[in-house]
Amino acid sequence: MTQNAGTQRIVVIGGGFAGLWAAAAAARARELFGIDPGALEIALVAPEAFHTIRVRCYEDNLAAIRLPLDDLLAPIGATRIAAAVTAIDPAARSFATAAGPLAYDRLILAAGSALRVPDIPRAQPTFDVDSYAGAERLAAHLASLAAGPRDAATGTAVVIGGGLAGVEIACELPGRLRALLGEGAPVRVVLVDRHEIGAAMGAGAATVRTALAASGVEARDHAGIAAVEADGVRLADGTSIPARAVVFTTGAHASPLAGQLGVPLDRLGRVAVDAFLKVEGVTDVYAAGDCAVAAADALGHVTVMSCQHARPMGRLAGHNAVCDLAGRPQDRVAFSAPDYVTVMDLGPEGAVYTSGWDRGTLVASGAAAKTVKQTINCSRIYPPLPATKEAMFAAAAPVIQAPPATK
Ligand SMILES: Cc1cc2nc3c(=O)[nH]c(=O)nc-3n(C[C@H](O)[C@H](O)[C@H](O)COP(=O)(O)OP(=O)(O)OC[C@H]3O[C@@H](n4cnc5c(N)ncnc54)[C@H](O)[C@@H]3O)c2cc1C
Repeated sequence: MTQNAGTQRIVVIGGGFAGLWAAAAAARARELFGIDPGALEIALVAPEAFHTIRVRCYEDNLAAIRLPLDDLLAPIGATRIAAAVTAIDPAARSFATAAGPLAYDRLILAAGSALRVPDIPRAQPTFDVDSYAGAERLAAHLASLAAGPRDAATGTAVVIGGGLAGVEIACELPGRLRALLGEGAPVRVVLVDRHEIGAAMGAGAATVRTALAASGVEARDHAGIAAVEADGVRLADGTSIPARAVVFTTGAHASPLAGQLGVPLDRLGRVAVDAFLKVEGVTDVYAAGDCAVAAADALGHVTVMSCQHARPMGRLAGHNAVCDLAGRPQDRVAFSAPDYVTVMDLGPEGAVYTSGWDRGTLVASGAAAKTVKQTINCSRIYPPLPATKEAMFAAAAPVIQAPPATK
């Protein structure tokens, strides 16, 4: 992609919740400030051609969780570069891809995060629900079990990691396995964690435990994994669980691209950004979403790897990068996210919805919480469809809405 003389370029790395909304907010600000698109290019670089609704990767039906990025970017006058970024050189204001280096005037790093898998011996393929590709591989594997030989391990799945994603996929699996193997087939789902499963849900902890039990999911608290063996999983206490599906949900770590900026990273590999989403200690680089950490309020809370924060961070990064380039510092908008909510799917048992950074208030559970979860997952966090310029710009306004509207 060559750059015309006199044209400036904002490049967004990543097409997820932060990246898409950074590009849309930048395009909106460009128009708002009367900047000729010929004078300011907005490009989004991502290896995949899709905006993935990653939070839905634990679901059975993956058909609606990917949207073509070109359908979202073309109406707003942003271009897509199909590539994976391999290195960033902030001093040269350029980054590398397999197709060669590209220059930027302002960079917005929104390359997200990926599952961090613990280093334990593994003698059979393992699975995850961290990405569309991972969810698709798990679905294909589960489907293949129905056609294969049947034994005690066939209908057993072990989910390793009892956080939000772990509980969500564990609650789905009994129904998915029964649907594939037949209603009468023996099905067993074991959820293993080093800590007490559900405790992190605060006021929703008891709801989580009740739902796991009602779904037939065995919760193994305070349990380590010694090895994934050819025919199952061996726990640290020597217990063997015969299983043909082993799913890791052991937490996420920021994209290694964050490490390219030469600034300190937090324990999740994230770069620190200021209130305007600018990376601290680096010139002309913004960051948003899972690869960035920002102050969320004046009480010391910081952003959580979540689309609840990735979307507004992206919107502000895009808007503020244009303000910066256009010499309009007075139009920048500062990030703040004082309220935090958690809505966890519990499969056939509904959902659990808490508010507060400590998840200290149980807002709803069961069917009422499930309605909220489905509204968020299937509608609120989607781009407007069809993605007209007007609708995209309205959704890209740099305003933090009150929860649960933010997610
Ligand atoms: C199963 C599951 C359930 C979840 N549930 C919730 C929930 O209920 N609520 C909630 O708020 N959050 C939830 N999350 C977390 C949420 O999905 C993430 O926090 C969110 O996706 C982060 O958005 P992002 O844009 O930073 O990163 P991502 O959505 O991961 O997007 C990253 C983008 O960067 C691109 N990219 C990566 N590397 C490169 C590279 N080298 N070059 C170019 N592009 C690159 C990727 O292709 C992708 O387009 C869940 C996550 C999972 C896996």
